[in-house]
Amino acid sequence: MSARPRLPEAQAPDDRAFFASLASPAIRALRAYDPGHDLVALREAFAPRVLIELGSNENPYGPSPKAREAAAAALGEMHRYPDPRGGALKRALAARHGVAPEQVSLGNGSHELLMHLAQVFAGPGVDVVLPQYGFAVFAIAARAAGANAVVVPALPADAAMPNGHDLDALLAAVTPDTRLLYLANPNNPTGTWYPAEAFERFIAAVPERTLVVVDEAYAECADAPDYASALSLLDRHRNLLVTRTFSKAYALAGLRVGCAIGHPELIALLERARESFNINGVALAAAEAALGDEAYLRDTLARNAEQRERLAAALRERGWPVSPSQTNFLLVEFGAATTAIEAALRADGVVLRPMGGYGLPGHLRISVGEEAENRGLLAALDRIADRAA
Ligand SMILES: *Cc1c(COP(=O)(O)O)cnc(C)c1O
Repeated sequence: MSARPRLPEAQAPDDRAFFASLASPAIRALRAYDPGHDLVALREAFAPRVLIELGSNENPYGPSPKAREAAAAALGEMHRYPDPRGGALKRALAARHGVAPEQVSLGNGSHELLMHLAQVFAGPGVDVVLPQYGFAVFAIAARAAGANAVVVPALPADAAMPNGHDLDALLAAVTPDTRLLYLANPNNPTGTWYPAEAFERFIAAVPERTLVVVDEAYAECADAPDYASALSLLDRHRNLLVTRTFSKAYALAGLRVGCAIGHPELIALLERARESFNINGVALAAAEAALGDEAYLRDTLARNAEQRERLAAALRERGWPVSPSQTNFLLVEFGAATTAIEAALRADGVVLRPMGGYGLPGHLRISVGEEAENRGLLAALDRIADRAA
């Protein structure tokens, strides 16, 4: 470990006030995205033993071998700038989703696109409507742009979709000052989704001057009969935009690739202020190859769905309520013991995601791992229960 230079104690508060006084008011009021635990530090502390990491909704099966090969080949070109337009990947995405390449913008993860949307369409004096228990990035994007984040209460905890999006309430919160409305379907951190017909009615009722952004980070995982992607509605609603990511089903979280799909003129505005080379060459090559390997995708999705149902059943058997999920994670209610259980699991080498930052301190979010990881989690939970008995 390298020595860390220490700030003189007395000087630190002054420095903070000084730099804060230089920053924009929006940034001054902002709290950074909380990525959960410091995994690097946890791994170091637990070594040589290996953690069971189920806190970040990563895909435990890893990407298609074709994506690995494409990434390795692209490494040979690392002295070159990547294609600033990401043309090949845009064409592949457009073909996959039945849209034109001009309807696709690429982001360094969909996180970047969600931030960028607010930079382009929001600002001081503008309202951005977003759901309680929605993805944390929505509020950060709105506030960083200086806009007013209007947080709309979620469905009740005892609804069929506990803590899920309340589309009627979101619609009711839209005013002439609302330029953006973010939601996620299925949603993180709740895992819930809304029925396709409900969204069709919703988007038809939203005023056209409010852009509706549907974050579909987990769309590939969703196969419920009443679930549908919003992509099929793009033709009918020019104020609709869908984001997707290669971080979850395609298992490329470390390479950072996401996309936004919408009206070509909306996409053109996003492209104006985009960093020219925001997707690196290795990521472009890997994402295109991953997209092309449909058989591999189907296989990992089937494994995820099977493990998700098994893990949910095992947790419910042990008495913990599990929210319905169409994703690769489960939101589980541990009640008053949540903090103690989370810490005990962590001491035992199992890392989950605490939900206090989302306003759900009695819940933990559990990524669905491979079979062995899920068994390890259940065994650790059982050891904790035995000790408490
Ligand atoms: C994981 C996740 C993303 C993906 O973020 P990337 O920046 O693409 O890795 C976006 N939205 C939601 C709701 C997520 O859970």
